[in-house]
Amino acid sequence: MYTGIGASAGIGIGKVVLVKEPSLEYSNAPITDIDAEKARFGEALDKCIAKTQAMAEDMKTRVGEKEAEILEGHVLLLMDPEMTGQIENMIEAENKCAEASVEAVCDQFAALFASLDDEMFQQRATDVLDIKTRLLKILLDAEDIDLGAVPEGTVLVAEDLTPSMTAGINPANVAGVLTEIGGKTSHSAILARALEIPAVLSIEGIVSALENGQEVVLDGSAGIVIASPDEAVLAEYQAKREKYLADKAALKAYVGKPTVTADGHKVELCANIGKPEDALKVVECDGEGIGLFRTEFLFMDRPQVPTEDEQFEAYKKVAETLAGKPVIIRTLDIGGDKEIPYLGLPKEENPFLGFRAVRLCLKRPDLYRPQLTALLRASAYGDIKIMVPMITCIDEVREVKAMIAEIKAELDEKGIPYNKDIQVGIMAETPASSIMADAFAKEVDFFSIGTNDLTGYTMCADRGNPDVAYLYSSYNPAVLRAIERVIKSAKAEGTMSGMCGEAAADPLLTPLLLSFGLDEFSVSATSILATRRVINSWTMEEANAVTEKAMSMVTEEEVREYLTSVAK
Ligand code: PEP
Ligand code: MG
Repeated sequence: MYTGIGASAGIGIGKVVLVKEPSLEYSNAPITDIDAEKARFGEALDKCIAKTQAMAEDMKTRVGEKEAEILEGHVLLLMDPEMTGQIENMIEAENKCAEASVEAVCDQFAALFASLDDEMFQQRATDVLDIKTRLLKILLDAEDIDLGAVPEGTVLVAEDLTPSMTAGINPANVAGVLTEIGGKTSHSAILARALEIPAVLSIEGIVSALENGQEVVLDGSAGIVIASPDEAVLAEYQAKREKYLADKAALKAYVGKPTVTADGHKVELCANIGKPEDALKVVECDGEGIGLFRTEFLFMDRPQVPTEDEQFEAYKKVAETLAGKPVIIRTLDIGGDKEIPYLGLPKEENPFLGFRAVRLCLKRPDLYRPQLTALLRASAYGDIKIMVPMITCIDEVREVKAMIAEIKAELDEKGIPYNKDIQVGIMAETPASSIMADAFAKEVDFFSIGTNDLTGYTMCADRGNPDVAYLYSSYNPAVLRAIERVIKSAKAEGTMSGMCGEAAADPLLTPLLLSFGLDEFSVSATSILATRRVINSWTMEEANAVTEKAMSMVTEEEVREYLTSVAK
């Protein structure tokens, strides 16, 4: 058995096709005719741009706009004179052949991106290397592997699955994808999910461990691969696969259904997004709004701060896509695990307890004002609500509200439209916000409970540290009481309460959240229908009984075991 990162759900059963790149060797002898070599590079560049554009178009029609953007990004990189100019300079100044110049310059750019401590930039490094390979193949006339022609029931096994390879995949024939590198947010993972192909990534040595034609089974949720399964294992995975597919089909029945408990108690079911383009998927998955737009992603994957106008366009696009449904947009939440290299923020000894999110924004009006202004301007195009992260004291809320009032007055003066009644709420993700929830409920229009941070801060346990993973659990009675306090304080004041942390999609916690009185659940787009189904399956009476018992327990294990035993 091999284990890796379960990056795209589903059970795959099929035969291995090893995806190995053709040899890209070339002679590195100095060139004599510089102009001819530059012309050869120019031709290859044009071909590469045309090829990438065609791949992007194909991706757009077969997969989706969002996925095509990765390849459109490649086109932009290829058209950017910064990198190609350096390649030409190298041919001219160092008498190097086009292949050697492409390789050296692309490697330099990739190393630069990879050295930045940020997943987005590291992804950029992969993009540059993908472009390098495509250019070299054109220069060397090397055959590309035709992934569109693999037989039905193929499990692709590769070191990495680059966007150029994935673009040609016919999902009807590919039963699974296994790679040696890549994580949950890598492009190969995003594409595998969009194509609904089960995938396990980051499996050490898998390419040399497997042979062409070998049978394998894989579980894309659990991150498990079994090679040459015996009959019993095969039968087990076939049954798992049927169950997974039946389950997925059954979920479709929840499209268009109201989000109500079995006895008719209505709640709102929204989704979390990171990019404006994700909003479309929320609509497709029948989300009732956006419960969290993490705007920090607009600030990452680029060399400088997005302008007020750029932000305005992004927020307006989401508001318009949601066509009047609520859209909660969170203001910049950086620091801690979310870095933006170009802001040059000082290194801190304790970044999670440091100068982050609203603390930083209030000290940096040059960053915060344009964002708040863009949000207010975009509020004329839909039901936008502003949410402030990492709040620990009332003064922060008042300061943000004062800044919003100032901007409103400026917009009034200029005659720029915005929603005068725009709601302002906070993330409840710190112990302080829960302890003081009764006071906050009087100051804000809504809460959204960020259980990812609330769990970490309540238990003093980092979400990424395996040694303290046993403490990082939302089933811990301390975390449950912190959540309960926020929701009940909101109720007492008539303030809306939502939850946008991962716990909102945890079926074991659904009865508790319903019983506490949560008004809005915000989950990933792909969890919308499953969450609606779980909510539909509980009556409030049942949920109240389960909650009473669970809240009388004092250990995480007791709670977890009890909630598992009563899960629907
Ligand atoms: C949270 O903390 O629960 C949350 C939703 O925010 P993030 O995961 O972006 O910190
Ligand atoms: Mg958070």
